[in-house]
Amino acid sequence: MALLSTVDFPHIIKKTDGISHGRIDLHSHTHCSDGELSPQALIDRAWNYQIDVLAITDHDTTQALDIADAYIKEKNVPIKLIPGIEISTAWHGFEIHIVGLNVDKNHADLMQLISEQQNAREIRAELMGEKLAKCGFDDVYDKALSLAGKGSITRAHFARVLHQQGHVSTMQKAFDKFIGKGQRAFVKPNWCSIEHAISVIHQAGGTAVMAHPIRYDLSAKWLRRLIVQFKEDQGDGLEVVLPQMNQQQRQTMLNYCLEYNLLASLGSDFHRPSKWSDLGRHLTLPDGAIPIWKQWA
Ligand code: AMP
Ligand code: MN
Ligand code: MN
Ligand code: MN
Repeated sequence: MALLSTVDFPHIIKKTDGISHGRIDLHSHTHCSDGELSPQALIDRAWNYQIDVLAITDHDTTQALDIADAYIKEKNVPIKLIPGIEISTAWHGFEIHIVGLNVDKNHADLMQLISEQQNAREIRAELMGEKLAKCGFDDVYDKALSLAGKGSITRAHFARVLHQQGHVSTMQKAFDKFIGKGQRAFVKPNWCSIEHAISVIHQAGGTAVMAHPIRYDLSAKWLRRLIVQFKEDQGDGLEVVLPQMNQQQRQTMLNYCLEYNLLASLGSDFHRPSKWSDLGRHLTLPDGAIPIWKQWA
C-alpha cells in the first residue's frame, strides 16, 4: 500500500481527541467526469479555500490526477492530493458508489476495471440517446458526447443538455422526468459488483469507502443490508459527513461505523460552485469517529 507518512500530512492538526483536523475534503469532481471545473481550477479553488488535503474522485476515471498533480508541482500549491476514484456499482437494482482513496492509478487491475466501466458508460449513453430521440430530442446524445469530451460520459451531461435546450427547467427535473430510475429514457447500467470494486481498489493499494450512504433512498432495513454486504466484501469506511447531512444523519452513520468496525470519511462531493455546498465547507468528523486517514498516517 502507498502509505503516506505524517510528514506528508504537515497541515493536519492533531489534537488529543484525534478527530480535529485541518481542512480535509475526500470527495470531489472535475470536468474529467461530471464536475464543471478543470483539475487546475479545482486545485485553485481548494487553495483559495485553504484546503490541506483534497481527494479528486471522478466517476470511473483517474484522468484528472496527473493534470492536478502537475499543476500542484508547477505552482507549488500547499495541498496534499489524494489520488481517488468513484466507482459505480450495481446492487439489487440500486447504483451504489464506492470511492477508492489513495489508489495507484497505474495498477493494471484498476486500469482494466476503468476500461470496462467506460465501456458500460458508452453503451448506456448510446441507448439513452436512442430513447431520448424517441421522446423527440434528436441531438441530445451528440451534444452530451461533445460536452463530456474525452472524460467519462455521465447522466449529468444529458441532464445539462436537456436543461440548456429548455426541455426541463432544472437538471434535477431531467432525472425526475426522463433519465432517472424508472423514467422514459432510463437505461439499466451494466456496472461491476460492490465486491469487485472493493477488491480492485485494494489491489491498487487503496482504501474503499461507501459514498453518500444517505442518498440511495433505502429504508433503514435495506441500508443496514447494504452496510453488512459492504463489510463482508472487505469495505473500509463510510462517508459519515457530507455538507447536506444533518447532525442526526451524521450520528446514524457514525453508529454504523462503530457497530461494523468501519472507518469514517468525509467530503463535499463537489461538482460545481453552488449556494449549498462547496469544497471543504462544514466538514468535521463527529466525536468518536475513527478517521479514514488514520490508515495513511
Ligand atoms: P451517472 O453516474 O452517469 O449515472 O450520473 C449520475 C450523476 O448525476 C451523479 O453522480 C450526480 O452527480 C448527478 N445527479 C444529479 N441529480 C441526480 C439524480 N436525481 N439522480 C442521480 N444522479 C444525479
Ligand atoms: Mn456526479
Ligand atoms: Mn456519487
Ligand atoms: Mn461524487
